[in-house]
Amino acid sequence: MSSIQPGFKVLLLAGGVGGAKLAEGLAACCLADQLSILGNVADDQRFHGLWVSPDIDTLTYSLAGLINREQGWGLKGDTNACLQALQRLGQETWMWLGDQDFATHLVRTRLREEGWRPTEIAQHLAQQLGVGPRILLPTDDCIQTQVRTAQGWLGFQEYFVRERCQPEVLELAIRGLEQARPTPEALAAIAEAELIIFAPSNPLLSIDPILAVPGIRAAISASPALKIAVSPLISGKAVKGPAANLLQSLGLRADAMGVAEYYRDLVQVMVLDQADAALVPEVAGLGIIPWCLDTLMQDSASKERLAASLLLRADACLNPVNLAQAI
Ligand code: GDP
Repeated sequence: MSSIQPGFKVLLLAGGVGGAKLAEGLAACCLADQLSILGNVADDQRFHGLWVSPDIDTLTYSLAGLINREQGWGLKGDTNACLQALQRLGQETWMWLGDQDFATHLVRTRLREEGWRPTEIAQHLAQQLGVGPRILLPTDDCIQTQVRTAQGWLGFQEYFVRERCQPEVLELAIRGLEQARPTPEALAAIAEAELIIFAPSNPLLSIDPILAVPGIRAAISASPALKIAVSPLISGKAVKGPAANLLQSLGLRADAMGVAEYYRDLVQVMVLDQADAALVPEVAGLGIIPWCLDTLMQDSASKERLAASLLLRADACLNPVNLAQAI
């Protein structure tokens, strides 16, 4: 597919798996300096003494072409000798960390100990792996999503990986927000963006922890950019992960309309999958413009197709003279 160069600055807010798919599509359609991606750090946790940043690593590995495509996370061809050795030593090994993946966590941890900011580390790792677009963090401070279940409060990875999202979620909280400050890079990217896209990521687990960093939601609200959200739910189901159950457990509608309600104060446009065309009148009733597109990204062609449609339609909104080209 030929690259589209509408010339405007694009900021994508993205979690891990769903976010990285759209990031790849946009990266194929945009010039590298046109696209910035603001990722989620509230899933970060220390394992075996090392800082692991799952969503940022998923974005980095995806954009570097190194991701394990079957899983959607981790490095392709990675092995688990180190985990097996840790298990022999009586360590908990439910968090799957591959042998090559450990190198990322070793470097991240050493650079943190040397005083680098997490933003600088994320950019350094991305640069080393040949990633073009900028990967930004909402904060350099430590914030962590916690999940309340019938067993009490669990760390995010305990809920997500160890318990495989099985326990019903009664409440979500993000620890550390009081002290968290937004990064200057995130604020600058928001200020210069003409198009802000909320990826089809889990709104509560991936996007909310970005917006919750003091200053980020306000900066996005104040931005005159065109703001578009893409639903991670198709026909009331998540493509992967617990988004539908989570929305339902927390009293929200478990379909694209529930996602539109979540984003209603932030976006002008909600992208629904074409399978959800019946929801168009309801979404329009919220005062949001619904766009129905094929949002299922199963390969690089479908990722690029969705990204290209978003950019063309956004270009038509930002430059009405191009409208005819977009339709
Ligand atoms: P996580 O941090 O790894 O859970 O990743 P995200 O929050 O970025 O993505 C999880 C969400 O991505 C899930 O709710 C999925 O339904 C959604 N998702 C994954 N693949 C696709 C896709 O191809 N299309 C759409 N519309 N959503 C997707």
